[in-house]
Parts: sequence; structure tokens; C-alpha cells
Amino acid sequence: MIEVRNLTVDYIGENSVARAVNGIDFDIREGEAFGLAGESGCGKSTVAFALARLTRLPGLVSGGQVRLNGEDVLNFDKARLKAYRWNEVSFVFQSAMNALNPVIPVSEQIMDVIQTHKPELGQQGARERAVELFELVGIPPRRLDDFPHQFSGGMRQRICIAIALALNPKLIIMDEPTTALDVVVQRDIIEQIVELKSRLGFSVLFITHDLGLMIEFCDRIGVMYSGELVEVAPAESILTNPQHPYTRALGNSFPPLTGPRVRLEGIAGTPPDLRALPQGCRFAPRCPHAMDQCRVQPPELRYYPQHRSEAACHLLN
Ligand code: SF4
Ligand code: MG
Repeated sequence: MIEVRNLTVDYIGENSVARAVNGIDFDIREGEAFGLAGESGCGKSTVAFALARLTRLPGLVSGGQVRLNGEDVLNFDKARLKAYRWNEVSFVFQSAMNALNPVIPVSEQIMDVIQTHKPELGQQGARERAVELFELVGIPPRRLDDFPHQFSGGMRQRICIAIALALNPKLIIMDEPTTALDVVVQRDIIEQIVELKSRLGFSVLFITHDLGLMIEFCDRIGVMYSGELVEVAPAESILTNPQHPYTRALGNSFPPLTGPRVRLEGIAGTPPDLRALPQGCRFAPRCPHAMDQCRVQPPELRYYPQHRSEAACHLLN
């Protein structure tokens, strides 16, 4: 459904250009939850913004394509873009607090999105849809006219999800959607999204630093390192059958949900400066398996059918 090809995003500085996303390729299938994992600063949110056509200066999409059912998203004109946002792709970001306007009742904020995109529904129709959406995310519709501060953080985030669902989009982009919430509320909300997804059939691009939550929730996961995808694999393989050394390290730095407690092995070192990248594999300075070849030749993402995963590492060839 979504095809990302050679997507490249730069951050333009005064005297330098940092390539935050370096020519990545992946697909999101219909009805699929696709996760993007990796340390902060690896480019996950930058990819999400590019897909939503929300890249703003100093960020600049400098190459590649994003296609939605074959249509060229990055070249949409204003009118097409208006239909694309909310109707086809919507988003839920981390800060539910800031996403809602504090001085306007929630009902108006939901109806506003509905009426902007579906004026034919009228006031009455938009109100009915808002009631439906509240029911969908498990909030009593009698609370529709309350102000944002009258809701808990978890409920505010459910309201953001309701707004994201308002126009039955094909894809919902969720960037750290539950990070500000406590663990129990997080899990509740994610379970609800999973349920809604199977009922309504939308796809999800899911970004979180919580690898456990991501593995549980997603069908496939793309692991990013320093602006590149190093592995794309079925979610369960990320811990049980990782192909790339960085995926393995990421899995090892994550506490297991069940079984005996093990020592957390952090990943030694830090990601490279995007303005001074290593010549070969970007992970080479931190990789325990780095070979001479790794320091000169960047590995390419290749499909390994025996593992059903794509990975970019010279060790695998
Ligand atoms: Fe490590 Fe080389 Fe593979 Fe890079 S290509 S991850 S340095 S083994
Ligand atoms: Mg981020």
C-alpha cells in the first residue's frame, strides 16, 4: 500500500548538511502494523514526518519516492494533499497535551476535522460521527463537550486516536503515541488500537523506544541505524532470529518480558555524527564483528528468504 523508495531527508545547517535519512526502502502492507525501531536520533521520526508530508525546514526531503497505492505522495499538489491528510493518512504524536486546544471543547475539535474534510455531513452528521468515535475509543459520549483538561492523559490520548480515526484513514502514523503515559494505560491503549485495527482494517506505522511493546504490536519491524535501515524482519524475529549485529545488540539491551533476569548489555559507543560519517558500514565503529571490508564498503540491504528478513551486513554474504 505504501512504498518508500530511496527516501532521503537532509537537515540543512548554516555551514553543513546532515543526511538524517539516507536512501531507505520499505513497504507498509494493507492492514499491517509496521514498526520503526532504533536509538533516538536514528531518523525514525524524520521518516514518519516525510510520509505524512510534514517535513519542514531545516528538514528537506531531497530524494526518493513515497507511493500510496501507486500515487506519488511527495508530488501531491495542495488539493490532493488536503485529501491525503486525515482521509488517507493520519497521525498520533507523543504529546496529547499539546495536540488538543485547551480552550475549545473536544467536540468542536473533532467536528472541525470532520467538517473540514467532509462538509457534506453538516453539523448534525459531524456530531453523530463524533459520538461514534468516542464510543469507538471507549469514552462515554456524554463527555463530548468537556474541555481537554477535564480528561486524564490516557483519555486525551484516546481522543487523539479518535480524531485520527475520524475519516477512516488507510494508514495511521503513531510516533511514541503512549510514551507520556503510565505503563498500564499504555498497554490498554495499544490493545485498543490493535482491536480497532483488526476491526477497521487500517495500517499503522508505529514508532516507540519500547521494543517490547513494538514486538507485541507490530507485524514487521524495520531497524534503523544512523539514517539507514539495517534490517527489516517479522516482529518476532527481532529477538529470536536477528540477522544484523545492531539488531542483536538492540535486543540484548532490552529486558526480557519473561524468564530469568539477565544482565542488560548496552551498546557500547554512540552513533556517528551525521556530518562526519564512517566511509563503509556506519555501525563498524561499534560492531564487534567489523572486518576490513566493513570499513570501506557500505553493505546493502538484501533479502534472505531463509529468514524472511532483509538485512545490510557483510557477514551475511
Ligand atoms: Fe558489523 Fe561489518 Fe556487518 Fe557492519 S557490515 S554490521 S561492521 S559485520
Ligand atoms: Mg522521535
